[in-house]
Amino acid sequence: MTPPPAPLPTAASADAGAWRIENLGPCTVPSPVPATMFVPDDDAVLLDPSVSPSSPNSSHVAVEKAGPRKNLFFKPAEAVAAVVTCGGLCPALNDVVRAIVNTLTFRYGVPRILGFRYGFEGIFSKNTVELTPSYVRDIHRFGGTILGTSRGPQPIGALVDNLVELGVSVLFTIGGDGTQRGAVAIANEIRSRNLPISVVGVPKTIDNDIAYVERTFGFETAVQLAQDAIQAVHEEARSARNGIGIVKLMGRESGFIALHAALASGDVNLLLLPETKFTFDAVVNAVVERFKTRAHCVIVVSEGAGQELCQAASLGTDASGNKKFADIGVHLKDILGARLSALKIEHTIKYIDPSYTIRSAPPVASDAIFALQLGQMAAHAAMAGKTAMIVGMIHGYIVHAPMARAVESRKKVDTRGQDFQSFLDASGMALSLE
Ligand code: ATP
Ligand code: MG
Repeated sequence: MTPPPAPLPTAASADAGAWRIENLGPCTVPSPVPATMFVPDDDAVLLDPSVSPSSPNSSHVAVEKAGPRKNLFFKPAEAVAAVVTCGGLCPALNDVVRAIVNTLTFRYGVPRILGFRYGFEGIFSKNTVELTPSYVRDIHRFGGTILGTSRGPQPIGALVDNLVELGVSVLFTIGGDGTQRGAVAIANEIRSRNLPISVVGVPKTIDNDIAYVERTFGFETAVQLAQDAIQAVHEEARSARNGIGIVKLMGRESGFIALHAALASGDVNLLLLPETKFTFDAVVNAVVERFKTRAHCVIVVSEGAGQELCQAASLGTDASGNKKFADIGVHLKDILGARLSALKIEHTIKYIDPSYTIRSAPPVASDAIFALQLGQMAAHAAMAGKTAMIVGMIHGYIVHAPMARAVESRKKVDTRGQDFQSFLDASGMALSLE
């Protein structure tokens, strides 16, 4: 007789506790937002909706849906908001800033919104700009961040002192893993002082590598704009005898941009990701094999791929303590060229690194919509006194997740997963270098 199925773990189970969103206190202020827009706190989305016989309902933990709440923690007319952008550039940063400013102003009537200039450094130096709807009116048409950005550590206690001095009630942190780690530290300091200041993050990672979050803003723009570079090296490569085109794309720890750009292009023969282990010998062999049937080859490589082949350990770190990476694209070009020459195989190599062109561009339409909605949802969450949380997308829903969970690990390309296998299927050269 088959045993009865195990009971489903529910959102009330121990694991769910780790997904609970912290709140500054009871919400007693009626929201001015139209009632039809309200989302109750117990509306939730399953973290893992998959069901398989080997792991029946393994993770029926649910995360809170984002949206305007019926009651607020802050009285909007007395609130002061502040926005900071940190880390590297990413398309749609300005769209997020604009959405936060417009939502707080027009939906809630928040009278004062500060922008901190040049990242956390601007909180330390109290370098601010007054953000108003007229100030942000056109900023979404441009890439970059109107607030400026920076790297490098700041003393957390002094940052919180300055937030108190400026009367800030809600702080929005738009940035990558480092920024959200900094935001966790700020939120912890705020908690230890028992202050009524909420910290809400909008994760910015063009690499789309935030754990549990399906998609981050800027990613689709990156995939789209990478097409120009891939198309250019493809044309160069196939116009030459034994032409090789190499494009290096962003992706320090995770190769999602390279994988998706390769899938969309249809012209990529060889894909080198941080998740795929390879040797230069294997790459040379693959190119030589390819030349037996086709006189050109297109290679896409993620910036974090093959670092162990480049003696990256000696490069040190940036101001924020992030490991500096060796330029795998240039290494690949040089080594491939030298090895093919040694084999007396005539060839030409064209190399493009479009990273800065992509990072600094305004967003494509889908990212513009997404950034707008993330900014709106961040504003709604903050007014309800939610704190130490980020907004992110899971299964098509924008949800709230504790900041600490989102930065505890990175999302990686699953080389056995659908997308990577789809690339191998579509590439014609079913080459796995693992
Ligand atoms: P990206 O990597 O996408 O460019 P990021 O947000 O990770 O973005 P970083 O330069 O690593 O960029 O970090 C942004 C800011 O956060 C920096 O000022 C950095 O000093 C600060 N920061 C990073 N980690 C921490 C931490 N653990 N505690 C406090 N501050 C931190
Ligand atoms: Mg980072």
